[in-house]
Amino acid sequence: MKAAEEGGADYLHVDVMDGYFVPNITVGPLVVQACKRATKLPIDVHLMIREPERYIDSFIEAGANIITVHAEATPHVHRALQLIRESGARAGLAVNPLTPLSVFRDALPYCDLALVMTVNPGFGGQQFIESSLKRILTLADWREELNPYCEIEVDGGISAKTAPQVVEAGATVLVAGTNIFSGIDSIQNNIAALRQAIAG
Ligand code: ZN
Repeated sequence: MKAAEEGGADYLHVDVMDGYFVPNITVGPLVVQACKRATKLPIDVHLMIREPERYIDSFIEAGANIITVHAEATPHVHRALQLIRESGARAGLAVNPLTPLSVFRDALPYCDLALVMTVNPGFGGQQFIESSLKRILTLADWREELNPYCEIEVDGGISAKTAPQVVEAGATVLVAGTNIFSGIDSIQNNIAALRQAIAG
C-alpha cells in the first residue's frame, strides 16, 4: 500500500467477496479499517457480496470513502445507493460483464461512480473481455446526458495494452491489481508504466 501511495495511486481499491455472490472469500470491514490506518489514499470499497445494504454501515465506520454495490446483488439498488450517500461516502454501482447496462439509465443520477466489470468478478489475474469497450462507450454517452460528475470505473484485466483502450472509450478510473502488484517491475514503476501507456 505504501509503495502504491508513493507510486502515485489515486485510490486504494478493496475487493470484498463473500463466497456467495462470488465464489471467493476475501476481507471485511476489519481489514478496511486497518488499511485506513495505513494509508492516506481514499478507500474505494468494491462489495461483491449479496444484500450489500446490510453491511454499508460497517464499511462506513471502517473508513470507506467510496462504496460500490453490484446491481445483481440486491433488489434494492436505489436504497443501497441512498444509504451510502446519506452516510457521507460516494456511491458506486457495478455491473457484471453481461448484465444489461440499461440499469444505469435510471441509476446514474444516484451514482458518483459507475463500475463496468471487464472480467467476471471473483478472482484476480483474468483476461480483459473485449466487448466491454462498447459498454464503456455507451455508458460514457449516458453519463454526458444524465450525470457528468459520475466517474466511470473499469475493473479487471487492466494492463498497458488495455488501459489506453478503456480511457479512449471513456473510463475515468482504472482498477489494476495483478498488473501493479504482480507485474514485471516494482509497484511504483508498474503504476508509472500504466500512466505512460495512457499518456502515449
Ligand atoms: Zn474490484
